[in-house]
Amino acid sequence: MAEPSPTPVIAGNWKMHKGPESARKFCREFIQVAPPTTGRTILIFAPALSVCTVREALSEHRIGIGVQNIHWEDEGAFTGELSAAMAKEAGATHVLVGHSERRHVFGETDEQTAWKVAAALAHGLVPVLCVGETIEERKAGRLEEVILRQLHAATTELDERDLRRLLIAYEPVWAIGTGETATPADAADAHGRLRGRLRERLGDHAAGVPILYGGSVKPDNARELLAAEDVEGVLVGGASLDPRDFAKIAAA
Ligand code: PEP
Repeated sequence: MAEPSPTPVIAGNWKMHKGPESARKFCREFIQVAPPTTGRTILIFAPALSVCTVREALSEHRIGIGVQNIHWEDEGAFTGELSAAMAKEAGATHVLVGHSERRHVFGETDEQTAWKVAAALAHGLVPVLCVGETIEERKAGRLEEVILRQLHAATTELDERDLRRLLIAYEPVWAIGTGETATPADAADAHGRLRGRLRERLGDHAAGVPILYGGSVKPDNARELLAAEDVEGVLVGGASLDPRDFAKIAAA
C-alpha cells in the first residue's frame, strides 16, 4: 500500500491557469517562501501542459504533483484527453476526480468518476475524489444524500485496500470561486457524514482517509477551517495561484 499522506494536506488547484513559463516562475517563488514539507503534504494540481515543468522545478522538494482530470481508458482515439498512465509517466502522483467544474460544466457523471478512480488506482495515482452539493440541493435539505451518493458511486467497486488509498475533498459547489466559504461548523458537519460512511466500510481505518475542505479557502480563513473536526486539509483554487498566499495557507 502507498505511504499515507501526512496531514494536513494542502492542495492547490490551478484550474486553467499557468502555462509552463508561469508555472516555473510560481515554483521559483513558492520554494522561497514555502513552509517545511515535513509533517504536512503539499500538492499542486497543475494544468497537464505544465506538469513536467513543475516536476522539474520542484524535483528537490517533497511536493506532490497532480493532474486535474484523466480519461478512464489507457490510450486510444480520444482527442484532447489524457490518461492515468500518461499522467504517471509525466511525474504526477495525484489526480482530481469529480471536481465540481468537471461535474457541472462538463457533465461528468457519477459513473465516470468511478471509472476514473479505478484507472487512477490501477496506475498508482492517488485519486482526490471531490464531492459537494449545489445551493439548491443544500436548501432542499439534500446535503447528505448528494455527498454520500457521490462517494458511494465512485467507490462502491473498491476493496478496502484501494478505498484506503483515496483522499476525499468536500467542496460545496456554492463556495467554489464565489468568495462564500462554508463555516468551520458546516465543514465539520459534512465531513462527519462522509467519515461516518467511510467508517461503515473501513471501521477504525476510516480515520486514515484524509478529508479536505475546498471552497474559497484564503490565507485568513485557512487556520480555522483546518482546526475544524474531521478536516485534514484544504483544496485551494484561486488563492493557490499566488505563491505567497499559497505558502501562507500551507503554513496555517
Ligand atoms: C477549487 O478549485 O477546488 C476551489 C475550491 O476553488 P476556490 O478556492 O477558488 O473556491
